[in-house]
Amino acid sequence: MVVETIGEAFALGWRLTVRCSNGRSEAPTSQSSRACNYRRELDMETLVWTRGKAFPLSRLESRLRCPRCGSRDVVVLFQPPRGAGAGERTAGFQ
Ligand SMILES: [Zn+2]
Repeated sequence: MVVETIGEAFALGWRLTVRCSNGRSEAPTSQSSRACNYRRELDMETLVWTRGKAFPLSRLESRLRCPRCGSRDVVVLFQPPRGAGAGERTAGFQ
């Protein structure tokens, strides 16, 4: 089954973590002191309430902004519940 919307992910009990990658996409070593790396688990149900269950997972990253540094350079990590999938899956992350 391919999960494409936040409504489907919520129904399946997926957890959502967002990590700020500000300062890491360019010159990762020299800029390391400025890197934010703020990481937080988001509430899936709140997202469904605010975005609607048909909102595509692939568009989440472009709608999120780090609350600490204000960067839009964030990475969304999806974690299916234990036993329901093959470990952690990432979306939009190379
Ligand atoms: Zn940040």
